[in-house]
Amino acid sequence: MSAQPKLKFAFYWAASCGGCEVAVLDVDEAILQVIALADIVFWPVAMDIKYKDVEEMPDKSIDVCFFNGGVRNDEQEHLAKLLRAKAKTLVAFGSCAHLGGVPGLANVADKKEIFNTVYLDNPSTNNPDGVVPQPLCKVPEGELKIPEFYDTVRTLDQVVDVDYYLPGCPPTPKRIVEAVMAIAKGGLPPKGTVLGPLKSVCDECPRKKEDKKISHIYRVYEITPKPEKCLLEQGIICMGPATRGGCEAQCIDANMPCTGCNGPCPKVTEQGAAMISALASILGVEEEKGTDFNPEKLIAQVKDPLGTFYRYALPASILRRKVMKK
Ligand code: SF4
Ligand code: SF4
Ligand code: SF4
Repeated sequence: MSAQPKLKFAFYWAASCGGCEVAVLDVDEAILQVIALADIVFWPVAMDIKYKDVEEMPDKSIDVCFFNGGVRNDEQEHLAKLLRAKAKTLVAFGSCAHLGGVPGLANVADKKEIFNTVYLDNPSTNNPDGVVPQPLCKVPEGELKIPEFYDTVRTLDQVVDVDYYLPGCPPTPKRIVEAVMAIAKGGLPPKGTVLGPLKSVCDECPRKKEDKKISHIYRVYEITPKPEKCLLEQGIICMGPATRGGCEAQCIDANMPCTGCNGPCPKVTEQGAAMISALASILGVEEEKGTDFNPEKLIAQVKDPLGTFYRYALPASILRRKVMKK
């Protein structure tokens, strides 16, 4: 009996931090199961392979491409389109590909503002000639091209058709192995599914909720929270009510609040708005009517609303980006 042919996997990183690449190795000895199932035909972080090698592959010759990172320049857009053409199944791997991720917070600025801050207008940069990167430049040896930087970070599915989403910043090893096994066994759910449970982080969290209202919002360094009680009910903003589970509430286990990396709960498109609504219900605004309770004062204690409520999902949200004055 002939052995089952091995699958062909590809991995690529676009506008990402590299953590998702490391997460693939974090599966420890399960990597041996992955290797037994599949050959890796493209993985720039680990293999010496050129883009032209991928361009020469027949269309749909890669079984699954795991693509991490959002799309913020023309090289990443080219690779997203190329890998879409070459792969039968494209998985948006991690928060950045799924929702835009932390790099997507740069959508509060455009290319000009970012270049000003990075290359021109900061105290640690010495750039008297005001040189900023140019996509094309002439040197004695010829013309050099570097990727063109875009104004906006986009999620993978804002650029190409995506088959599945593996959430998390980065996805946990358990979720990665489950996804790979489901792919290998042909047990994947319908196209477009987020490969995670339907419950929220709160549903997985062992902390006790007492339906308490809060009268002060604390930043994590301002108090030492009680380990057995809900962080939100102790005044620390925890995105658990508005975030899909699947991580076994691992941040809360470390006495830190959930920051929302798994993205919105099922059937919710706007994670930030869902959390603002959850927060409003715990502030006890209704009960305080007619007293000297001042909700604006309480809300002003949220020091970084965008980074708190939209840390991973600004490009995928209805807000998407800040409108810039031209
Ligand atoms: S999802 Fe998180 S770990 Fe993965 S590339 Fe983005 S920032 Fe890094
Ligand atoms: S809000 Fe946070 S700490 Fe409270 S139950 Fe939900 S996940 Fe746990
Ligand atoms: S607790 Fe929240 S931030 Fe932490 S891994 Fe889970 S979903 Fe991500």
